Parts: sequence; C-alpha cells; structure tokens
Amino acid sequence: MSQRTFSIIKPDAIRKGHAGAILADIEKAGFKIVAIKKLSITKPQAEGFYYVHRERPFFGSLTEFMSSGPIMALVLEKDNAIADLRKLMGATNPANAEEGTIRKKYASSIEENAIHGSDAEDTAKFEIGYFFAGHEMV
Ligand code: GDP
Repeated sequence: MSQRTFSIIKPDAIRKGHAGAILADIEKAGFKIVAIKKLSITKPQAEGFYYVHRERPFFGSLTEFMSSGPIMALVLEKDNAIADLRKLMGATNPANAEEGTIRKKYASSIEENAIHGSDAEDTAKFEIGYFFAGHEMV
C-alpha cells in the first residue's frame, strides 16, 4: 500500500555535493518526491526533531551537526516507503552498511551518515509535520 515517509539529506552530504546523486538514487528506487526543501535549522530545532534521543550520549553532538549547515527535507511516497527507504539508506554506521546503499556510498561516520529516514508510521507522521504544512505536499 502506498505510504509516505520523511527523509533528510544531512549537512555532510550537502557540503560534499552529494545531494543530487542521493536524490537520483531515491528516484531510481521508485520513490515519488512529494515535498522538498533546502533549509538550515537551529540547534533548538534539531533538538526538537531528535527529542526521542535526548538521553543518548551523542545528543549534543548530533544536534550540533544537524544545525551545522543546510539540509534538504523530503517527503517521499511509494509502496512500503518506510521500510524500503531504511533499506536503501543502509546501516547507521556506514562501516556496516551494505554495498550500494546511500550510507555505504556517501557517509563518512556513524554521525555524519548522509541521510535520515523515519523508522515507523508514527515517527514519519511527526517528522513530516515538523517540516511541512499540508499545502506543501503535492
Ligand atoms: P538511524 O535511524 O539509522 O538514523 O539511527 P538512530 O535513530 O539510532 O540515530 C539517529 C542519528 O544519530 C544517526 O543517524 C546518527 O547521525 C546519530 N548517531 C547514532 N548513533 C550514534 C553514535 O553512536 N554516535 C554518534 N556520534 N552519533 C550517532
């Protein structure tokens, strides 16, 4: 069944000029881009987005990184979008990511790992709403 998920092309990938290649991989994998914007977020905005990770030891570093430069926020649609995007992204740590995945190709570390993708339907809903209004999704 058609499903929506939320994704971020992270600051490391934007800095290295990989945004276009990542968008091409996403489209080649059959996702429709329903919404897209390039923007910078503040540290407090990154903290709100990653609220579930607030107790993790890397929370400060992660939110510093996510507010360190422009990102691209995306809403993506296809059958089984949430699981299929996670598969296309690869493991959190690029050292463990499978060949051909976005993190294997473009990520440099467990933190600077090129892309975010929602991990469940409820988080996808929250994350889409954090970045996009209904009228921005087409
Ligand atoms: P994801 O769902 O694969 O993005 O991974 P998580 O939800 O577990 O973590 C969210 C993000 O936090 C990851 O994508 C990384 O950018 C960062 N992260 C996860 N684990 C670590 C870690 O052990 N150290 C650091 N510095 N960052 C991490």
